[in-house]
Amino acid sequence: MVSRVIPVDPFDLVIFGGTGDLARRKILPGLYRRFLAGQVPDSSRIIGAARGEMDDDGFRAFVAEAIGEFVSEGKRDGETLARFLGHVHYVSVDAKGDGGWKDLARLMRKDVVQAFYFSVAPSLFGDLAERLHRFRIATETARIVVEKPFGRDLDSARALNATLAEHFTEHQIYRIDHYLGKETVQNLMAVRFANILFEPLWNARHVDHVQITVAETVGVGGRGAYYDKSGAMRDMVQNHLMQLLCLIAMEAPYRFDPDAVRDEKLKVIRALKEIGPEDIVRGQYRGGPRAGGEPSYVEDAEDPASKTESYIALKVQIANWRWKGTPFYLRTGKKLRARASEIAVVFKEVPHSIFDDEEGWRENVLSIRLQPNEGMTLSVMIKEPGPGGMRLTEVPLDMSFAEALGEDGTDIPDAYERLIMDVIRGNQTLFMRGDEVEAAWAWTDPIIAAWEARGDKPKGYDPGSSGPEDALMLLHRDGRRWREIRE
Ligand code: NAP
Repeated sequence: MVSRVIPVDPFDLVIFGGTGDLARRKILPGLYRRFLAGQVPDSSRIIGAARGEMDDDGFRAFVAEAIGEFVSEGKRDGETLARFLGHVHYVSVDAKGDGGWKDLARLMRKDVVQAFYFSVAPSLFGDLAERLHRFRIATETARIVVEKPFGRDLDSARALNATLAEHFTEHQIYRIDHYLGKETVQNLMAVRFANILFEPLWNARHVDHVQITVAETVGVGGRGAYYDKSGAMRDMVQNHLMQLLCLIAMEAPYRFDPDAVRDEKLKVIRALKEIGPEDIVRGQYRGGPRAGGEPSYVEDAEDPASKTESYIALKVQIANWRWKGTPFYLRTGKKLRARASEIAVVFKEVPHSIFDDEEGWRENVLSIRLQPNEGMTLSVMIKEPGPGGMRLTEVPLDMSFAEALGEDGTDIPDAYERLIMDVIRGNQTLFMRGDEVEAAWAWTDPIIAAWEARGDKPKGYDPGSSGPEDALMLLHRDGRRWREIRE
């Protein structure tokens, strides 16, 4: 099956922070891949903007280098790259000063789609929004894309929403969460709402529990001091894991429309129960000989007294009819055994087993893998083949997209490129609405405040492990087990 490429209208896309790390690793290589797919119409322009002084050619050399590093070799011949670079421009602007803004105003066209990607520190979002307005650059249909973190608590998120709202309407604001741009995540909605098979089972009567895991093998490394002000709850749970939870738990929207989908997600966040200390395990990776001599978290954070978590596991409950009694176990951490993100929907036992083979029996699990190898697997029980009586065995029904699409997987668009194209098309379905972000902070704030007030210290865990021992207990005491973290 060949994936269809839907054309988009010509655009001017300005990347504030065009010379930064995110632009270099994700945004610019992603745009090149969309160009290869035919989604950068002829007159479109990609305009890098940052304080650094350089001309178009200087920025083109930067872009070419980024593509050389982050796009696979087979996809970058000199001629195609030269054509792509013909779309690339650069303007020097300071978000906090007035220099360069008139140049940008002169460059921008009013009769094409305008998008402004704020790939700069969040403290600059307000300055950018205000200048885009004051220099009469942004049209009424222009879109702005804002990166995470969107605030560090409810108050700061509210203030940021209010600042952006001074110059842009909610329909112009695209708060990016790249987890929502993953093929699998969107497929989750297709599987749930385009099939009759799953929805009747998608509730507390048939789902025993859900596990959401986002495991990383890297530590906080060079950005330890920055990360230390955030921690796993703010950096990962409040946004990515809660968004995944919403997509699993939400009711069917009345149609696949941005506000209808986001209304349903918001209801899930509002239905989250408060949780107490017994439902949370926080951890910090250790260093020393068992870590191969690598630094511990507190060394990376450059604060020997740091109580910030590099790992967190939570038991979350949703107070509504559909999910009463079905726990959602969430965990995320750094320096874990493998880089793996998975949502596992674990179904209940059959009401009565007619088979003697209890050992072979396993519950049905729908596993939704976000990385690596995006795809879904449904485990079902069958009879072990061959003579020797009725022994049961588990087989996976594999819904791997790469195979289903007849591709090697590398052609599945990266989350960033897919989301950027959604911005150009004006589709906000996969972007967080302001009220969703605020509701998520309203739930996480008191949890964080409570552990800070108690002075809780995170538990140590060894790099390369599955996290702190106590996290195992979170499920053991409910008679359950975490799934293995593996690539
Ligand atoms: P970065 O590498 O530090 O780059 C920052 C960019 O902003 C540079 O191009 C810089 O160029 C420009 N800049 C700084 N001050 C400016 C000003 N006053 N006016 C105009 N431009 C200015 O940062 P990054 O890692 O790319 O991150 C960008 C944003 O994405 C942040 O909000 C971050 O939280 C978010 N994010 C990043 C990642 C990632 O993997 N890197 C992942 C998720 C989210 P000049 O110094 O020349 O101005």
